[in-house]
Amino acid sequence: MRLINTGFVLRNLQTTIAKRVSVSGAGVHSGAPVTLSFIPAAVDTGIVFHVMDSEGVTHPIKAHVSQVGATDLSTKLTNSAGMSVSTIEHVMAAIAGSAIDNMVLEINGPEVPIFDGSSTAFLAALDEAELVQQSAKRRYIRILKHSRVESGTSWAEFIPYDGTRYEVEIDFETPVIGHQKFSGDMNDTVFRREISRARTFGFMRDVERLWAVGLALGSSLDNSLVIGDDNTVINPGGLRYPDEFVRHKTLDAIGDLSLAGAPFIGCYRSYRGGHRLNATILRALLADSSAFEIVEMPQDGSSMTSVAVSH
Ligand SMILES: [Zn+2]
Repeated sequence: MRLINTGFVLRNLQTTIAKRVSVSGAGVHSGAPVTLSFIPAAVDTGIVFHVMDSEGVTHPIKAHVSQVGATDLSTKLTNSAGMSVSTIEHVMAAIAGSAIDNMVLEINGPEVPIFDGSSTAFLAALDEAELVQQSAKRRYIRILKHSRVESGTSWAEFIPYDGTRYEVEIDFETPVIGHQKFSGDMNDTVFRREISRARTFGFMRDVERLWAVGLALGSSLDNSLVIGDDNTVINPGGLRYPDEFVRHKTLDAIGDLSLAGAPFIGCYRSYRGGHRLNATILRALLADSSAFEIVEMPQDGSSMTSVAVSH
């Protein structure tokens, strides 16, 4: 049975895609061209990257916080053999925003293509692949109590909430960004309309510094919002949303938090957060078995009342 895309709406059955679809583009840090294929997967597979090495051998890496390696400029997954795939957050946000549980992402390089710096190209590919409902029940992580991590002035936390909510706050000295906050219950409509088009951003002075050490080699005005030394957005088209910066931070959080391995029921809040803090709060949550429970929705999928299946 084919489904329309219902995003974060609580759904009681697991979902994969109906057919294989591929996209090709360049990585923002390596600048290297890669092809990423979305492949249907069986119940309880989860989201798994299949990273091809130079000999064409495939190495599976589960999209789970336990595999998170570096979080300096993007979120990178690494396996025990040292294979890795980086800049996974924007495609993971598109997958979470489409409520897909099981899929293989085959990639013939070490970095997910950046496209326009948002989730738009991935959403278009997943729309083309079409969603298909599977026979097993979908599981959620329901937040039972407050979990919080801090780093300097930055913090992130989960609190219990009947729904899936994001409250993301940033505070930059640069006046063009300044203080911005996104608050909202997340569903497919909100994700597509309010979040999915928000692009990654950076400062011209940082891009020049990164270029000097061989990073951000694929970075350009086509895939990033760039703030110049005069504190204005350099991109000729300007902003897609007046507060595009905090919306992109929300997009990153949606991608990073999907590495819990199941969607959460609760409210995620952060102040001056980022990839590292997102991985840290997820690890703190999952390390405390009294902070959450794994639940399934009742058959009609209409009620928040849930059945605990394990702790
Ligand atoms: Zn991002």
